[in-house]
Amino acid sequence: MAKTVLVLGDQLSLDYIKTLETDRNQDTILMVEDWALVKRKPYHRKKIALVWSAMRHFGNRLRDLGYRVDYHLDASLLECIASTGSPVVCIEPREHGIRTCLKAAGVTFKTDPYWFMTQDDFTQWMSSRTQPRLEQYYRLVRQRTGYLMNGDKPADGIWNFDKENRKPFPKNHQPILQPHFTPDSTTLSVLETVAGIPNLIGDLSGFNEPVTRDDALERLSWFVIEALPDFGRYEDAMAANDMFGFHSILSPSLNLSLLSPAECIDAAVTAYADGTAPLASVEAFVRQILGWREYMFHLYDWLGSNAWDEQNALDANEPLPDLYWTGDTKMRCLRTTITDTLRTGYAHHIIRLMVQGNFALLLGVRPTEIRDWFWSAFLDAYDWVVTPNVIGMSQAADNGLTASKPYAASGAYINRMSDYCKGCAYSPKSFAGDDACPFTTLYWDFLIRHENTALASTRLSTNYLALRGKSPADRLAIAERRQQLKQLLQTSQL
Ligand SMILES: Cc1cc2nc3c(=O)[nH]c(=O)nc-3n(C[C@H](O)[C@H](O)[C@H](O)COP(=O)(O)OP(=O)(O)OC[C@H]3O[C@@H](n4cnc5c(N)ncnc54)[C@H](O)[C@@H]3O)c2cc1C
Repeated sequence: MAKTVLVLGDQLSLDYIKTLETDRNQDTILMVEDWALVKRKPYHRKKIALVWSAMRHFGNRLRDLGYRVDYHLDASLLECIASTGSPVVCIEPREHGIRTCLKAAGVTFKTDPYWFMTQDDFTQWMSSRTQPRLEQYYRLVRQRTGYLMNGDKPADGIWNFDKENRKPFPKNHQPILQPHFTPDSTTLSVLETVAGIPNLIGDLSGFNEPVTRDDALERLSWFVIEALPDFGRYEDAMAANDMFGFHSILSPSLNLSLLSPAECIDAAVTAYADGTAPLASVEAFVRQILGWREYMFHLYDWLGSNAWDEQNALDANEPLPDLYWTGDTKMRCLRTTITDTLRTGYAHHIIRLMVQGNFALLLGVRPTEIRDWFWSAFLDAYDWVVTPNVIGMSQAADNGLTASKPYAASGAYINRMSDYCKGCAYSPKSFAGDDACPFTTLYWDFLIRHENTALASTRLSTNYLALRGKSPADRLAIAERRQQLKQLLQTSQL
């Protein structure tokens, strides 16, 4: 019997078409650009352009391969489904909201073959744990898949190269050249449409994103040759003149399913086998995809979207400062990284975690508000990945489910790992006074605010040892500076 194969905007994979047993002779592939979905949030203009251009290219590719494609511009996904008149099948959507809607509309799902573990595997793994940890999960998946394993032992006898992989960039560091993806007529037409949509954010100019599988493969091969050898060593490094460092920038392609996680891992593992990339870099990259990406998805899925929205373990209720939408601040680290993100829709992991997320954590911003900013501002943001990363990992609002301790750090960390503090209006060493770095003041204030909670006795106990050195006068000065910072924030003068 003929069926309709629904391809969502983040399911642009021929592997999925095969998984759904799509018959070229009788099935119809349905693809819909649903403007109502786009209008849900003030998304980054480049993200909408990326998704629609990638969808149109994928639709054209399917037609070239002889599939019948029913592609709708500016239509309602649910109305299109209702009017098919045949059973509709789809790869199980990653996002809970869309999954629930499609289920209610009678769409049936097949398991996404791109995850290494199923949700049942994960639920079973969780059932014997009160404190799940990435490291345990990652080792299990390494053992199951055999990646970087010698029998049941990790390659070179080492599971984790994190300690080696924390170097700042050397002096005079210069960015490496990025591949360029010149927009073709399909992309240019999408860019024109997106330019006319009100209420989006970010800069559309200089669009340089991989919109086809070939583009995505080119980026993967660029990464393995040019960046992977230094990926591990400088994974945590930040610099004002280089927003990418040696990171892969593969998340937009992975999250659109233009690439499979397995082929990215295979490419890195092959580079190790060929001797062109060191194990410390390759293991770090494998850990990101086989470990963190997979773990975040399963945690999101296991807890459920609504439950994530309710997490606020640190009772954080401050509004998100306007500077996140403008980049307008004297703090050089936030000004540089937010401006870069609003321009490109990207920041690498440590910038997201230790600068953009850390500031909201220390300030005590409502977790869903800072999550919504990340969701709007980034090209790779989707509920399944942005929610656990922001609410869990970055804002520690989930009571330690995602990470063993909050990623709270003062200006000293930012100064150690970047050159942002050079030429900044504030001093990372000072916690009080007009030149005190807001990160440093707010870091101590964060510790003081949570002094009588479990954070002090368990998860952040080492940080609290240093707090003992602060006198009552220091504590008073921290409280005064915090008040001052809040006023400066309210008047956009920080
Ligand atoms: C506050 C915060 C928000 C984030 N929001 C997102 C998001 O919306 N979308 C997103 O894909 N990632 C998100 N991440 C995870 C991570 O920062 C990005 O995946 C990564 O920076 C993407 O850049 P890259 O491709 O150059 O990554 P690389 O450093 O080159 O890493 C390789 C790949 O590993 C995967 N990866 C690494 N860490 C994670 C992680 N924690 N969760 C999921 N995948 C991971 C990504 O697919 C990435 O492409 C967030 C992290 C934090 C701390």
